[in-house]
Amino acid sequence: MKKHNFNAGPSILPQVTIENTAKAILDFNGSGMSIMEISHRSKDFQPIVDEAEALFAELLDIPSGYKVLFLGGGASLQFCMVPFNLLEKKAAYLNTGAWANKAQKEAKLFGEVVEVASSKDANYTFIPKGYTIPTDADYFHITTNNTIYGTEIRTDLDSPVTLVADMSSDIFSRPVDVSKYGLIYGGAQKNLAPAGVTFVIVKEELLGKVSRAIPTMLDYRTHVKDGSMFNTPPVVPVYAALQTLKWLKSLGGLKEMEKINKEKASMLYDEIDRNKLFKGTAMVEDRSLMNICFVMNDEYASLEEDFGKLAISQGMVGIKGHRSVGGFRASTYNALPKESVQALINCMKEFERTH
Ligand SMILES: *Cc1c(COP(=O)(O)O)cnc(C)c1O
Repeated sequence: MKKHNFNAGPSILPQVTIENTAKAILDFNGSGMSIMEISHRSKDFQPIVDEAEALFAELLDIPSGYKVLFLGGGASLQFCMVPFNLLEKKAAYLNTGAWANKAQKEAKLFGEVVEVASSKDANYTFIPKGYTIPTDADYFHITTNNTIYGTEIRTDLDSPVTLVADMSSDIFSRPVDVSKYGLIYGGAQKNLAPAGVTFVIVKEELLGKVSRAIPTMLDYRTHVKDGSMFNTPPVVPVYAALQTLKWLKSLGGLKEMEKINKEKASMLYDEIDRNKLFKGTAMVEDRSLMNICFVMNDEYASLEEDFGKLAISQGMVGIKGHRSVGGFRASTYNALPKESVQALINCMKEFERTH
């Protein structure tokens, strides 16, 4: 049976990414060796990193003065690397979910942290607005897409101080005005590549301003200087990322990707709003295009398990909601085909007819 992969992360990747990576694992560039067996410093691998960097810059229209880095450690390591490198006295954080909260917790190890607003009391069902960002903060940190709660900041905010964003789960889902940010980071495993590589887009002039000593590996300047080659980068995930970037370009870039994402998400949200059995959990204006959270309407709460079973029997994978939200979560990342969204909608309609 065809599987419809709604996993939240690691999650669905373009078929061409998987196929090309599989080929390179068996025989890289006709070398008779696996990409896993060659030196990251070989003349064959450097072009992979260079091209991935160049495509990052091209697809996101990154202005000059920024550097793209490919690191290890996941987005979670960035929770501490960001304050290590940028926090001298005070940082501001917007608390929009579990990941935002974890980022903020790490920053407290390095200085004063101001939580400018939080939607925690409402179980993160919305993105707070109308808050004030302290102008003496070293930076303001946001999480653009809240993977667990299905809310998203889909515009590039104006900030009086350096804007830092965790874009782990919505990078490359829409065009981004990178010039509004000082630093953007994310784990690759939601919209880009298998787990193992973390991307950082950093404005170089922000580095080297803090007074503390920074361990070599945690200092962005190390990786800027050595072009992500200070130590062995995650070679296979970087190769896979390059395949996804090429796929994005062949689709027509991020404007086109955003159009497709909007279409897929509105198909599913329309069904959630129409179907008497279901309701969305996130506030409508803050709904994510990447993670669509919904639960049974109160009077049908007892049907949750049955719907889950029906969905599984029809090939849906990974739609169980995160334990802190319950119900269901359909992740509709870039690589998820429209047919999979339609299959889930058909399943919801069928369940409504029979209940
Ligand atoms: C998944 C996720 C993370 C954690 O990423 P790791 O690479 O596993 O550390 C952080 N932030 C957001 C928004 C995420 O979705």
